[in-house]
Amino acid sequence: MSTSYWLDRTNPTNKKNYDVVIVGAGISGLSTAYWLNQEDPSLKIAIVEKNRLGFGASGRNAGFVTCGSVEHFNRLISKHGQAEALEIWRFAETNLKLLQEHIIGDQGSSIEFYKRGAYSLAAQDNEFNELKTVAKTMTTLDIPVEIFSSTEIEKNVGATNFVGGIKYLDDAETNPFLLMELMRTKIKADIFELTEAHNYLQTSEGTRILKTDNGDFECSMIIYSLNGYSPSIHPYFEDKIYATRAQILMMEKAPLFMDGPCYANFYLDYFRQMPNGALLIGGFRQLEKATEVGYSDHITPVIQNALHDFVKNHLPTLKDKPVSHRWGGIMGFSKDGQPMIGSLPTDGQVFFNGGYTGHGLGLAFHTGKRLVDLIFGRDVPAWLSARRFS
Ligand SMILES: Cc1cc2nc3c(=O)[nH]c(=O)nc-3n(C[C@H](O)[C@H](O)[C@H](O)COP(=O)(O)OP(=O)(O)OC[C@H]3O[C@@H](n4cnc5c(N)ncnc54)[C@H](O)[C@@H]3O)c2cc1C
Repeated sequence: MSTSYWLDRTNPTNKKNYDVVIVGAGISGLSTAYWLNQEDPSLKIAIVEKNRLGFGASGRNAGFVTCGSVEHFNRLISKHGQAEALEIWRFAETNLKLLQEHIIGDQGSSIEFYKRGAYSLAAQDNEFNELKTVAKTMTTLDIPVEIFSSTEIEKNVGATNFVGGIKYLDDAETNPFLLMELMRTKIKADIFELTEAHNYLQTSEGTRILKTDNGDFECSMIIYSLNGYSPSIHPYFEDKIYATRAQILMMEKAPLFMDGPCYANFYLDYFRQMPNGALLIGGFRQLEKATEVGYSDHITPVIQNALHDFVKNHLPTLKDKPVSHRWGGIMGFSKDGQPMIGSLPTDGQVFFNGGYTGHGLGLAFHTGKRLVDLIFGRDVPAWLSARRFS
């Protein structure tokens, strides 16, 4: 095969000039571009994506827009103290409000966005007791939550073999890909798909030249919005963000019977019924924790069978439905479970956001806003700043 001068994407005359180049076109990269646009509409922004928009976790997730943390609230309090735990919770609540105000508006039904709360279900008494403590604490802090018995759980979400649960009344769910497509329409940035970013060079004039397989991008600032893929671009992330696989199974549609999405088993497993009646279920990575790491999106029989068994055990109305889809995706788990923003210690013009630990839909839009605060010299919370790791 030969390549013409005109089609040679690495041709040096193809050098492109931008103020900011964002690497990664998932919800994080798009959110960052959105807030940069808001800050300074004159900024010339490029987003480079090695595959297609939403190829990463953003186009593969379960669509839970969690209004809270990645663990039961009492556990968050034991790690951070009540004041900071509440701040972290409110951060995610604000994420949802910002999404609604700035992106979703009256387009909710077109992106299958519903705000009807989410359940956390307990199969054992010890978890139910913990959930009841969580609900009590949250109520005193004005976080809307309700407790449900096993009978009520069966009636509301058709799930059996649970001893009870709680419902976070403000949680939402959406079609994550449609959300991103909607976000894309509100962003002024050139998106370069099929463009993998490699290393960058610093010029004597203080600009950065980002090397990609679609030629060089000269810019004043680079932002890595790569979440789980962050360690693949720079060693700084190797001990801060861990590429972690999650798998999903989907069953063919049934009449609607669930009045909200559900988590189970201490947030590790999750399922929800789509507006068309199909059931999505994910989780069980705890069964293969040591190998559910890295950048491959393959699925494994152990986890896929566990997901299917969960349906047979807890969702009897679906037990005979055929499986329609199975897939995997790469999440970015941070060292302490919270997202992080910052700039590289070796280069103050290279920023990043990521580490959503399986909850980027509930965190990335607000995190993008706070990254822009950081870039423009405004304060950011200590628990969000990557400096907490240094
Ligand atoms: C199966 C699964 C279920 C999940 N469920 C939920 C859920 O219900 N709710 C929730 O809140 N979160 C969920 N998550 C997590 C959520 O999807 C992520 O936190 C979020 O999508 C991260 O967005 P991002 O834009 O930071 O990263 P990504 O969406 O992963 O985007 C990063 C992009 O960078 C690109 N890229 C990588 N390397 C390069 C390079 N060198 N050059 C250019 N581009 C590059 C990738 O192709 C990718 O498109 C789930 C994740 C998975 C995998």
